Formats: sequence, C-alpha cells, structure tokens
Amino acid sequence: MSVKIKKTIKKSLLICNIEFEMERFFIFCLHPKSRRFCFESDFEIQEGIEGTIRVYPRGTDDNILENWISVITSVRTKSESDIYAKLDLSIRSFDGLEKIEKLSAYYRFLHSREEVWDMSKFTTTQNILQHGGKFIGPMGTLKLYLTLSVHLDRTANRWISSIYDAPVRRRLREMLKNKTGEQRFDIMFTIGKCQFQAHRQVVKCHPVVQGILQRSDPQCQLFDLPNFRPDSFENLLIDSYMDSSLFCKRCFIDRKKGAWSCCNAKNKYGS
Ligand SMILES: [Zn+2]
Repeated sequence: MSVKIKKTIKKSLLICNIEFEMERFFIFCLHPKSRRFCFESDFEIQEGIEGTIRVYPRGTDDNILENWISVITSVRTKSESDIYAKLDLSIRSFDGLEKIEKLSAYYRFLHSREEVWDMSKFTTTQNILQHGGKFIGPMGTLKLYLTLSVHLDRTANRWISSIYDAPVRRRLREMLKNKTGEQRFDIMFTIGKCQFQAHRQVVKCHPVVQGILQRSDPQCQLFDLPNFRPDSFENLLIDSYMDSSLFCKRCFIDRKKGAWSCCNAKNKYGS
C-alpha cells in the first residue's frame, strides 16, 4: 500500500490529508481470499505522533454473511502535551463525482497512549464491486482518503504567548469556575466534579468545542464530558477566550455581535 501525506496548519489545528493506494485490491475482495487478509501501513503525523491503518477487503467479522470493507485506524502519541483528534475517511470515484464517506462528529481526547477508530462497517464490499469501474481503477486499485485533524494543546508559539498573557489567563481561569459571579454565562461543561461555565458564542469558535456542541441540540446548556481531563479542557477554553474578539479582555465582558461595543479595544487581546 503506498502512502502520500499532505499537512496544513490552521490556527491550533494540524490537518493531515493522507492518500492510501492499494493495488490489486479487487482480487482480495473475493472468495476464497481470507477474511484475515488486510492491507496495512504506518504513517507519521508529526514527531511523537504516529498511526497505523488496516484495510480489510472482506471485513473483520466472521459471524456475518455479508462482506464489509473494514477500516481500523490507530493513532499513538509519545507527546507530553494533550492531544485531541478527529478522523474522516472516504473513497472517491475516479471521475471525482461520487464519494462514500464516514465523518467523525467530534474530537476525541487521546487520554490513553493509543486511540483506535473502528470503522468495521465502512461500506459493503459488494457496493464497491458493483460500481467497479467507478471506485476501482486500473490494476484493481482502490484509493482511500483519510483526513486526520489534530488539535495541539501546546505549540511552541502558544507556550510563549501564554507567558505574556499570564495575568489575563489567570483571570479567565477564575471566571470559568464562576468564582467572580459577574458573567452572563449560558452553557456549562462538567468533567467529574469540575464545572466550567462559558459563553457559547465565544467558545463555539474552537474546533474541539464546536464538535461537542454539534452533538447536542442547539438549546442544550449542560455538557458532560467524562472522557476529558479537567486541566487540559480548561486550557482549551481559555485559548478560545484569548482568540475570540467576542470577549473583551480589557472590560472582561462578552460582546454581542453587531451590538454596542464596550470600549474601543480593537485588538482581540483588548488593548
Ligand atoms: Zn471593552
């Protein structure tokens, strides 16, 4: 299996587009080829973060009659910083007009050293074979596209700026625990015994929070996050307040879009 990786960085997100090409995929879809057979490849996202993908042309489940294409992806980290990741997978037709895709709705916190995305039922093998000419190229080749979006908790740049911003960050930290009691909060996150209150319009710009909010209906105000770590999530909320122009860091209040502005602080850092 051949691998091509393209990486782009957008704010705190590292987006890796990886293309896997499997030659002679077609013949492994058919009986008597074993269900145990898989295409396998390793890939590196950045130093300290790497992954493995396995593609089973006839699926991983022996107990069902129908054959499914199963894709199992794992990501491992040796990094000390906290990492959130989201994985999307697609097969595109060679004319570019059609695609079969599975998108993850939210970011996962890689709290263990290895995180596995199990897409055992990606699509039926029959579906690919039926439209053979569309998805299977010359030499029986199938191309699989994987997009891995990784949120890096602490990049070097953010680390330096967090030292300069320390007083504001400290004040935001107190505010999120609602110790000051002077904010018009409209949502709350709970992780075990920890509670964080926040302004929806400010934090929703953060890709990880956006994923959490999208999972529930728009009226929902309470979000339970059993798999997250409190201090790491708190940093993430603080980052979103630091980055947002909808919260004034001078007056320490939220600014309604298009409404009266608290002061003339143009800069998003409130100075
Ligand atoms: Zn202001």
